[in-house]
Amino acid sequence: MVASRVLITGGAGFIGSHLADLFIERDCDVVVMDNLLTGDIRNIEHLIGNPRFTFIRHDVTQFIHVPGKIDSILHFASPASPIDYQEFPIQTLKVGSLGTHKALGLAKACGAKFLLASTSEVYGDPLVHPQPESYWGNVNPIGVRGVYDEAKRFAEAMTLAYHRSHGIDTRIVRIFNTYGPRMRLNDGRALPNFICQALREEPLTVFGDGSQTRSFCHVSDLIDGIYRLLESDVTDPVNLGNPDEIPIIGFANEVISATSSTSKIEHFPLPEDDPQVRQPDISRAMRLLNWKPKVSLRDGLALTIPYFEKALRSAEGESVISQ
Ligand code: UDP
Repeated sequence: MVASRVLITGGAGFIGSHLADLFIERDCDVVVMDNLLTGDIRNIEHLIGNPRFTFIRHDVTQFIHVPGKIDSILHFASPASPIDYQEFPIQTLKVGSLGTHKALGLAKACGAKFLLASTSEVYGDPLVHPQPESYWGNVNPIGVRGVYDEAKRFAEAMTLAYHRSHGIDTRIVRIFNTYGPRMRLNDGRALPNFICQALREEPLTVFGDGSQTRSFCHVSDLIDGIYRLLESDVTDPVNLGNPDEIPIIGFANEVISATSSTSKIEHFPLPEDDPQVRQPDISRAMRLLNWKPKVSLRDGLALTIPYFEKALRSAEGESVISQ
C-alpha cells in the first residue's frame, strides 16, 4: 500500500475525482481540496458521507492547512482545457505557481510524498515527434496557451527544486489528452464537443482542416499509470498517454460512427498556437512502470458515450426547469 491518507488538490475535477475513487477503493483516507472553479461537486457527490472521505472547499493558492497526517499529496488543481485557461488566465498562472508552492510547502511540513500533474503542453507546438521526456519543448510564453504551459513548466521546476533543496520525495506526470466520464459537457475540448454535437445531430466543429493530430487516452489507463508512478521511485518526469495518434478529422469521424450520428463536419479557424501534432513517447513509462494503455479508442468511446447521453439528458432537463 502506497499511502494511507492522501490529499488530492483539484479532486473534484475530471481526473482528480477518478483518483479519489481509486484511493477509496484501496482503503485509503482521501481528502479532496477544490475551489470548484472548474471542478464540480457532482464528481465526488457519491463519496460524501463515506467516513474515509473529506472534502475541503479551498483555493490552493492561499495557505493550505489540513489537520492530521498526510502521506501523499497529488497536486491536480488547475483549469486544464484551452477554453478554461483562456477564460481564467490569471487563476491558471496562480494555481500552477503559488498553488504548487503551497502544496509543496505542505508536503515538506507533513513529510509527504508529492506528485505533480503536469502536461504534454510543456512541449508546446513540438518540433520533435513523438515527444520523449528529454525534449525541452517549443512553447510561446506570451501566447494564449502560455498561461497554462508556462505555469506547468514553472510547477515542474518548483517541484524539482523542492526535491533537490528539501529532499521531498517527488513525482511528475506529464499527462497527454485524456477522456472519459466526468468531463464537463462544455469544457470546450474536442471530445466533449464532438460527442455532444454528434448526439444532438449537430455539425461537428473541426478547427482548421483537421490534419492536426492528438492521441487520446482513456481515463482508466491514466489513473493506473499515475498510481504506478506514485508507487515507483521515479523522480524525473514521466509521460502518460495513449500513443495511438489520430488526425482530428479522423477522430471526428470515429465519434460520428460510434454514436451512429447523421452529423456532418463543419470547419472553423484553427485557434492560435494550436499544436500541429501530439503523441507521447511512452518508452519510459513502459520500462520504469511496466505500464501501457489497454483501452483502444473504439472501446474507450463506447465506455464514455453513455455518460454524455445521460449528462446531456439531465442538462436539457435542467434548462427546461429553469425556463
Ligand atoms: N478541436 C476541434 N474542434 C473542437 C474542439 C477542439 O477541432 O470543437 C481541435 C483543437 O483545435 C485541437 C484538437 O481538437 O487541435 C484537440 O483540442 P482539445 O481542446 O481537445 O485539446 P488540446 O489537445 O488542444 O489541449
